[in-house]
Amino acid sequence: MRIFADGVESAGYQCIVPPMFEDLGVFLRLGDATDVVTKEMYDFEDKGGRHIALRPEHTASVCRAYAQHRPTPPWKVWYSGPNFRYERPQAGRFRQFDQVGIEVLGVDDALLDVEVIALGWQFYQSVGLKNVSLIVNSLGDNGDRTRYVEALALYFSERAHQLSPEALATLERNPLRVLDSKRGQDADVIAGAPTIGQFLSLSAAEHFAAVCAGLKTLDIPFTVNERLVRGLDYYRRTTFEFISTALDSAQNAVGGGGRYDGLVEDLGGPATAGIGFALGVDRTLLACDAEKCFEFGSPQIDVFVIDTTDGTHALRLTTLLRASGFSADRAFDGRSMKAQMKGADRSGALVAVIIGESEAEQSTCTVRNLSTSEQTTIPLVDLQSHLQSIVGPKQPRRQSQ
Ligand code: AMP
Repeated sequence: MRIFADGVESAGYQCIVPPMFEDLGVFLRLGDATDVVTKEMYDFEDKGGRHIALRPEHTASVCRAYAQHRPTPPWKVWYSGPNFRYERPQAGRFRQFDQVGIEVLGVDDALLDVEVIALGWQFYQSVGLKNVSLIVNSLGDNGDRTRYVEALALYFSERAHQLSPEALATLERNPLRVLDSKRGQDADVIAGAPTIGQFLSLSAAEHFAAVCAGLKTLDIPFTVNERLVRGLDYYRRTTFEFISTALDSAQNAVGGGGRYDGLVEDLGGPATAGIGFALGVDRTLLACDAEKCFEFGSPQIDVFVIDTTDGTHALRLTTLLRASGFSADRAFDGRSMKAQMKGADRSGALVAVIIGESEAEQSTCTVRNLSTSEQTTIPLVDLQSHLQSIVGPKQPRRQSQ
């Protein structure tokens, strides 16, 4: 979360905390051909008879907030939190799962699409994932998409006898999603299906070309996959997905997003361009496990304060040191010197700062380097500079006003 927040905040995105549930109508706007809406929503009546739903994703809530509060565009926000979908639980697919994501409202520029995709890409790089690949596609403008869906519907219905019963059911609801079928029986028909590229308007094709050129400028590797349609019905033009090849292929999408120009309007706001992504935190962590990105062990802190008087020196000192940018911990319950030293070793701290009766009387402290066991007693006022000489420079933490 911290890595994600650092990355997107450095690009001007501000944190938004959307509610965990909304009026059901907010999510119904995601489209009645969207499985998330038709089959997977946790919806119920509250005590006041309102029909509400646990959020299955964040984008609708962000667009609802934009339509309601009308912030000045461009509006760049990021979020993190749980979503709920009534799906068949399996490895990497849960009924409650976490996402982090960003949304930008009010900008139509293809270079923004590149910024958004790049921020997702850089996040995976910063957590150390090496086996993530990027797939991009364009679903065209509204009219392009409609013409494509009609062509697909015709193509698949002419070959209905070759399709699996599941694909036939999907065809009824949303011909685009038939392309997502992973069943062997459907593979040949899908392979011959018309592709969206043939239906793109000139402006949608130019937009997509500019997105691809921008990704090349940033040296971000990607492949164009004209079969990438994504599950949510609201996507227009640019769509993209991040795939982890370290995960089982059934659930290997670690994140995805796209443009959803039109969604704010559907939610009662002004016509507004929109783009964003959501990255699956659970699956990203599974990929990190598979790639052994994180080393496990005790958390490393800078300083462990040992107080053998009444504990208040440790209280004051840990507070002061944390405010000055050090990570600092201590023992509680008036434990013996020996027990506190054991705690210091377990904490992984680089340095122990010891305050006993004589140090307390003389306003000094004993600093013990826990890796070399060197020990020296210094005036308390010199502690911070002495610590910096051992653990490196620190910046004071920002204090709330
Ligand atoms: P979506 O909101 O469907 O575009 O999904 C974006 C990302 O969220 C996916 O690529 C997954 O990594 C993750 N995700 C979606 N649904 C689930 C789920 N049921 N369990 C775990 N992760 C999920």
